[in-house]
Amino acid sequence: MENNEKDIESVIILGSGPAGLAAALYAARAELKPLLFTGTEVGGQAATTSVIENYPGFPDGVEGGQLAELFTKNAEKFGARIEYDMVTAADLSKSPFKVSTYGKDHYAQVLIVTTGASANKLNVPGEKELTGRGVSYCATCDGWFFKDKKVAVVGGGDSALEEGLFLTRYASSVTIIHRRDELRAGALLQKRARENPKISFIWDTVVEEIKGEGAVSGLQLKDVKTGETRELAIGGVFVFIGHSPNTELFRDWLKLDEKGYIRIDQNMQTSVAGVYAAGEVADSRYRQVVISAGMGAAAAIEATRFLESQE
Ligand code: NAP
Repeated sequence: MENNEKDIESVIILGSGPAGLAAALYAARAELKPLLFTGTEVGGQAATTSVIENYPGFPDGVEGGQLAELFTKNAEKFGARIEYDMVTAADLSKSPFKVSTYGKDHYAQVLIVTTGASANKLNVPGEKELTGRGVSYCATCDGWFFKDKKVAVVGGGDSALEEGLFLTRYASSVTIIHRRDELRAGALLQKRARENPKISFIWDTVVEEIKGEGAVSGLQLKDVKTGETRELAIGGVFVFIGHSPNTELFRDWLKLDEKGYIRIDQNMQTSVAGVYAAGEVADSRYRQVVISAGMGAAAAIEATRFLESQE
């Protein structure tokens, strides 16, 4: 398909987490009128976090959804165009780069990829069938449905403990199931979780199956040290076992690292000139809102310099 110069955007940003929205703010303030496609998870993972206590400037914490709204408002104030749409294909073989939403192609001189990462699945029988029926990957979104129920949380990292603590607001008890006998989570969350009377732990244990007819009723568990199996009756299970980057659209075009994250240099530049990446899609190390936002800002600054160099 041919494109007229007037149809070519300066900057298209893919993704609406902290990296994408910070990139949109900076690109908008550089008068580039960026076009941002939100994707399905509007606000990114940060928006589904109950309270964010380590984003500077909010000493009392801020709800993830509220922070995403503030980021969005801030970017729109300076002229960013936010479209609630999903990019389904990309062609980065030549400039202008093409991205397609349902039924429409868009062209841009610069792309900033901030598609983030998504929750890993356990990949056990029952998980897929019972997702949305007691299996969840987001306590903030679904916790309310588990009022006075016994729930389980799988994982031993910061997310498992933070979300487990959040679930104690609703659930009658929260059982954290971890595959080792030592938590990966930071000391502060560990202390809070261990001190919470509603929280208990099952160590050295994995989930083999999620059981239930139409709704979750229990888990089949296996002790990895003894090999013993047993059933645990619960009304819901929340899975927090890490994330994988959303890079499917870019596999053919951009260099990825061994874990599948987009490779970038210190200027957020990918292996294709004019294509930048920021936030969790390119960061398997820090995964913090403040860092993703910083990376997004840096990507937009570099994108601005790149466009100036092309003039
Ligand atoms: P994570 O740190 O990678 O932890 C994942 C947990 O899931 C680990 O305990 C891991 O066990 C377990 N796990 C992985 N695969 C599993 C499987 N197939 N079956 C059972 N268990 C499995 O992930 P995260 O907790 O989502 O945190 C991601 C990043 O975000 C981290 O850098 C974290 O510090 C950050 N984060 C920070 C905050 C905060 O600062 N408040 C909050 C949330 C997240 P092993 O321990 O045995 O590997």
